[in-house]
Amino acid sequence: MSSVNIPPPECMLRPLEVPYRYLFGPGPSNVPPRILAAGARPIIGHLHTEMYEIMNDIKRGIQYAFQTNNHMTLAMSGSGHTAMECAVFNTVEPGESVLVSINGVWGERVAEIAERMGAKVHTMVKSPGGYFTTEEIEKALAKHKPVLFFLTHGESSAGLAHPQVGSGEHNCLFLVDSVASLGASPLLMDQQKIDILYTGSQKALNAPPGTAPISFNERACHKMFNRKIKPVSYLLDMTHLSNYWGNDSKSAREYHHTGPVSGFFALRESLAILAEKGLENSWRQHREVAEYLWKGIEDLGLKLFIKDKDLRLPSVTTIAIPDGYDWKELLAYMMKHHQVEMTGGLGPSIGMVIRVGLMGYNCSKFNADKALTALADALKHCPKRRG
Ligand code: PMP
Repeated sequence: MSSVNIPPPECMLRPLEVPYRYLFGPGPSNVPPRILAAGARPIIGHLHTEMYEIMNDIKRGIQYAFQTNNHMTLAMSGSGHTAMECAVFNTVEPGESVLVSINGVWGERVAEIAERMGAKVHTMVKSPGGYFTTEEIEKALAKHKPVLFFLTHGESSAGLAHPQVGSGEHNCLFLVDSVASLGASPLLMDQQKIDILYTGSQKALNAPPGTAPISFNERACHKMFNRKIKPVSYLLDMTHLSNYWGNDSKSAREYHHTGPVSGFFALRESLAILAEKGLENSWRQHREVAEYLWKGIEDLGLKLFIKDKDLRLPSVTTIAIPDGYDWKELLAYMMKHHQVEMTGGLGPSIGMVIRVGLMGYNCSKFNADKALTALADALKHCPKRRG
């Protein structure tokens, strides 16, 4: 008699099926064959010397993409949220003051992360599409005297590229989210005096989701390595991660966790593609394709959510939901008839926008036309109700 009384599930006896989709939302974006092939290379051990070489290459690739000389540069095993938590958990201790600017969902998330680990969280809030002036930031910093100030560079929920990142002098650590903007909109970590910067693998870098580059400068390292108590997370503790990435003074790397080996192969390849292309070419390409897309959207009679061109995020465009339409019907139509993914808003921008992302490999006029054709077709066929 078998002790196995739960049979193999039906679904597991069928082959895996994955459709081809045009990922024109805010991420993940389509992964080019070269990066897919890198991820399909045979696995090696996460502690093999060849893997250390690949991790060293990744560090160099991130330093180029971030424009930083920071030694403490690495990739998180996990998505963008892992980097958000790593940044906050390591640099803030319970009871310390944190200032978070919120102009979309990402500030909301960071505020919650900081609150959960016991920080005293202060927020500055604008509705989606809004941004913070240097004066507003300086005033809030003087009032709350935080140890950490957070700002989102590319607010993907609103489609906003924040102006003046780093123009003020911050008497605290300055943490910036570039998950949706890295490689698409100019950002220079060292020159803009950003203390901690992170991004994600799955947007303009076009790697599969699941790894997240992050970098800490000397000031950030000083704060996080002189704590009174250990960070709340073992997995995200930078004393361990810095060793895993060969960034500490120990002569040997020790086992901490098993990194996503295939994910790191793919991330290396995506950073290599960016290095070959050149950051400035990548920024230019995103801006040119975005302008082409913006014109096409306006030619369809639609309105862009961010009025000022210079405030628009080139990687994620937000369209004001056209009068009379149900945005969910438009999205469902494009998915069903064109295999095109666009998405609605997120957090405070839900019901305000439709989001179109053309990032990295997806960033071409050809794909902009594909997105515009799908949109035009959806507008033609979805019911328009008069209110
Ligand atoms: N920040 C921004 C600006 C983002 O666009 C995203 C992903 N949409 C994240 C953070 C979170 O990244 P992830 O989904 O990889 O955890």
